[in-house]
Amino acid sequence: MSSARPLNQVYSGLGTTVFTVMSGLAVEHQAINLGQGFPDVDGPEEVRRLAAERLIDGPNQYPPMTGIAELRQAVAAHDKTCYGLDYDWQSEVIVTSGATEALSDCIMALLNAGDEAIIIEPFYDCYLPQIEQTGATVRAVSVTPPDWTLSEEALRAVFNEKTKAIILNTPMNPASKVFTSEELQLIAGLLEEFDAYAICDEVYEHLTFDGRSHVPLATLPGMRERCLRIGSAGKTFSLTGWKVGYISGPEHLTSVVAKAHQFVTFTTCPALQYGVAHGLGMDRGYFDGLAAELQRKRDFLRETLEGIGLPVLPCEGTYFMTADISRFGFNGSDYDFCRHITANAKVAAVPMSVFYHPDSKDVPNSLVRFCFCKKDDVMAEAAERLNKYFG
Ligand code: PMP
Ligand code: GLN
Repeated sequence: MSSARPLNQVYSGLGTTVFTVMSGLAVEHQAINLGQGFPDVDGPEEVRRLAAERLIDGPNQYPPMTGIAELRQAVAAHDKTCYGLDYDWQSEVIVTSGATEALSDCIMALLNAGDEAIIIEPFYDCYLPQIEQTGATVRAVSVTPPDWTLSEEALRAVFNEKTKAIILNTPMNPASKVFTSEELQLIAGLLEEFDAYAICDEVYEHLTFDGRSHVPLATLPGMRERCLRIGSAGKTFSLTGWKVGYISGPEHLTSVVAKAHQFVTFTTCPALQYGVAHGLGMDRGYFDGLAAELQRKRDFLRETLEGIGLPVLPCEGTYFMTADISRFGFNGSDYDFCRHITANAKVAAVPMSVFYHPDSKDVPNSLVRFCFCKKDDVMAEAAERLNKYFG
């Protein structure tokens, strides 16, 4: 006899992620998938080859709980070389099965029921359920389009004595925003004032455009002790299916994050860790080349969208560009529009409204996210389809 007892209230109330829904629709309609963000060219062959060799030659048994020494050393060296951040690889770096696990570990390590956690809308979708599952309350504050600026007044309004942490995603998915140094200083000041922590989702750290460089919040005065910094090999090496992530932070935080990690996944595929350790040690040229290539693709997408009469919002980093569809006078929501173009123009995109809190007063209805990390011929074909449909 089946039971009617209610299951977990956070997860039983959730739908399927927009990425899975739109990718499914793209397959169904044979559309080009500019929805879910993943590159269609795999990252460096030397990284993949090294991992493949390790898969055959081993080790293939449980690696150390916080990650193989080579990868933890590589993360610490990367953070030092790129940002001047000093982390002890043995006690202050943890390897995880993707940034998604890293976020979950950090959230579980920091939050208790009754705490408040701040997230910035539009936000990456896993933050909300991960926080709510701890019993903590989410406070959302929006950055405002078209420039996605963060107002001091709005941010200050969501801080209070219950605030335990903020999740800061820069470069930001889906808004493609890189937080300015003034905004970082504002956040740092409030963290000091309210004695709070930051979980810094920096998975797009190497994907910044037009000469911008990524500045971790942890590099600001006093912030190293309050920040957990998260990176992802998925984005940095165009290997999203590998799900290898890493966390760096002060020992008083990572020691507890490790306790969460040990009971979530315990550890991560060793062969992939060897590959990523090699990747993080590659020349600066690799990282610069990745950003330059994506910037070129961004420019192509911008021309395409503007060419069909869609204004685009600034795109300072990540895989994504936002277009404003309000001029089309489309009769329906942004979600309907994305379904419509997937079925009819045969190009899939993702509606921005899904990246807002259900109670938000700032949900846009005419913004759509397109992904541009695709081969040139795929981007050209997408452009042709959009031109044909809208032209
Ligand atoms: N954070 C953001 C902002 C992302 O866009 C993603 C995307 N995939 C993740 C975290 C999760 O990264 P991973 O695939 O390494 O779990
Ligand atoms: N980060 C990717 C995006 O924003 C999707 C990741 C996923 O599907 N879980 O499109």
